[in-house]
Amino acid sequence: MPERINDWQLLTQTIVACRRCPRLVEWRERVARERRRAYRDFEYWGKPVPPFGDLQARVLVVGLAPGAHGANRTGRMFTGDGSGEFLYRALHKVGFANQPTATNRQDGLQLRDIMISAVCRCAPPGNKPTPQEINNCLPFLEQEFELLNPVEGIVALGQIAFDYTLRLLRLQNHDIPRLEFAHKAFYRLGNDLPWILASYHPSRQNTQTGRLTELMFDEVWLMVRELLR
Ligand code: SF4
Repeated sequence: MPERINDWQLLTQTIVACRRCPRLVEWRERVARERRRAYRDFEYWGKPVPPFGDLQARVLVVGLAPGAHGANRTGRMFTGDGSGEFLYRALHKVGFANQPTATNRQDGLQLRDIMISAVCRCAPPGNKPTPQEINNCLPFLEQEFELLNPVEGIVALGQIAFDYTLRLLRLQNHDIPRLEFAHKAFYRLGNDLPWILASYHPSRQNTQTGRLTELMFDEVWLMVRELLR
């Protein structure tokens, strides 16, 4: 385990120092400099956001990218915005999180059996990373899979996370057929590979329009809980 802790620390340092995508570096730093009025006194993180969670997790949760004023502000995945409120409340209900809220890196939040990551680690303009930017970032996700080995399951939050996670596994020469994204779509990917469960992303766009309700999201995490039994 200590060896693994060192590997995670090294990976975290590498991610946080990354400047590979010029457009995203410029954007994340500009947002951090200019700040939203409500957070004027908050020191923004403004760097790539490393994975967060249990180093012995059996489930890897893959999101899209940090929110400009959420994770890009606080430096922790899904922390400090509406998406995170939705996610951690759901995780807490089924015992994957020790508290239902996530406001900053010192708030005491701890996850059990869950590691949260993303296909893109830098906040993108309009919440839309380009395919090239995601491809630049995928090697970090690959390393997380290696460190969690063997991970039992993946929860993909949104279609982009779903598609690119499968793309990564195919790039590793795993023979995975074309799979349809749908909320609660569940697939076993084959021997020695994790299962994958798809969910709509808990973005404000989805939760405020009712495309993703609290009940629909709770069902996802209950499924995960059952799958791990
Ligand atoms: S998106 Fe990923 S690859 Fe691109 S700069 Fe950020 S951390 Fe680096």
